[in-house]
Amino acid sequence: MKKLLLSLLLLIIVLIAVLLVNTLTFKSDQQEVTAIPAPALQAQSIQHFQEALTYKTISYGRPELFDSSQFIAFRKFLERTYPLTHAKLQQEIIADYSLLYTWPGKNEALKPVVLMAHMDVVPVEEATLAMWTYDAFAGTVKDDFIWGRGTTDDKINLISIFETCEKLLSENFQPERSVYLAFGHDEEIGGKGAVAIARLLKERKIAAEMILDEGGIITKQKMPGLSKPVALLGTAEKGYLSLELTVEKPGGHSSMPDKETAIDILTRALVALRNKPFDPSFSEPMQGMMKSVGPEMSFMQKMAFANPWLFKNMIMDTYAESPTGDAMIRTTLVPTIINAGIKDNVVPTVAKATVNLRLLPGDNSEKIIAQIKDIIQDDRIVITKLSTIAEASAVTPVKSFGYAKVSQAIKKSYPQMITSPFLLMGATDSRHFGEISSNIIKFSPMIDPIGFHGIDERVSLESYQTALWFYEQLLRDLN
Ligand SMILES: [Zn+2]
Repeated sequence: MKKLLLSLLLLIIVLIAVLLVNTLTFKSDQQEVTAIPAPALQAQSIQHFQEALTYKTISYGRPELFDSSQFIAFRKFLERTYPLTHAKLQQEIIADYSLLYTWPGKNEALKPVVLMAHMDVVPVEEATLAMWTYDAFAGTVKDDFIWGRGTTDDKINLISIFETCEKLLSENFQPERSVYLAFGHDEEIGGKGAVAIARLLKERKIAAEMILDEGGIITKQKMPGLSKPVALLGTAEKGYLSLELTVEKPGGHSSMPDKETAIDILTRALVALRNKPFDPSFSEPMQGMMKSVGPEMSFMQKMAFANPWLFKNMIMDTYAESPTGDAMIRTTLVPTIINAGIKDNVVPTVAKATVNLRLLPGDNSEKIIAQIKDIIQDDRIVITKLSTIAEASAVTPVKSFGYAKVSQAIKKSYPQMITSPFLLMGATDSRHFGEISSNIIKFSPMIDPIGFHGIDERVSLESYQTALWFYEQLLRDLN
């Protein structure tokens, strides 16, 4: 008995020693970069951003609502506001409204970079108009925030890029390598503009050293256990898949219902799918995030991330608690449309549901559809793919020119910044650029933005100041 206790004690001591050694040797992977204080925001830069917000460059998803005059007026505004950029860079109009600019670099031997943003914004729902504190298209500046539809998504990036180019051109600056600016006009509804730009670049045999598009943000609030701000550099984005589930079964009069109807079969399948989430896993960006953020955290969290062999399940469970965390560790599925029945006393013959899935890197659509059939176990349910399918993107390596440059530029722009790889939940235009570069970074240099796609969308003036300074550091340092 005594022997058993002794060996147990020894085992515990060894375990604690291993945990401590792993934790204490879990060293920071952050580049040491000294921040340069950002200059004060110019009143003129703020006015330009405000004016950009007044153009209703809305993607409705219904062609009859598309207002081309807003997009043309917006382009005229850009041309008028940024005369040097339009004099010195070559502008091309692609797919009628998208824009491509070419800025030749000093060294033609170096591969170019592509900076992306999109001009379109999501609509403001009629029913929510009255809930906005300020008019969604007025471009109001109040309480150190810039308010309006499109501030965070994605006019902050678009305007910051133009402001920076204009400033650098006024100093006769020329980038080390060529820079392409690619601005889509319909990102929110699939990105045909971006597809056309990517096709053109491919035809011209352009292979970019890196591409930067919207994506992860800077957060001071959303990382428990971390006292420093962290910039989340998207190194991959989840895939997108919508499926329609259809059941056909003769209906009839509701006074003498069958034991099982089309609606019963369909809802049972949906419940089964919701009750059986796909297996969680740490994708490459998530593993990278633990390595980058872990060593910067308080001791207990650091210990967990330093010892995933022991704490993996605990970390997974913590992530799974919140919808955002859960979406980071698994392919998600949710019913979004359900349709059956036309009259209260008729049992419908057809019942349909649409489910939307966001695919983790590594989970391709065929594999997931096979798993869905396995979970449903009912051949009466016909599964059809709806048109918009995108597999999860490739993962950009952390050890790449793009990651290193973006990381360095944001660290220069803001003191004490931690940078980390990140898996983006949403889709961006850059997913169409996989053939132009294998180094795509998805990052929007703004700090804890509010109201993304929602009511009272806004970014702080500090975010705008940071974004301007970030693009300047990046463009100055493209050797
Ligand atoms: Zn966007």
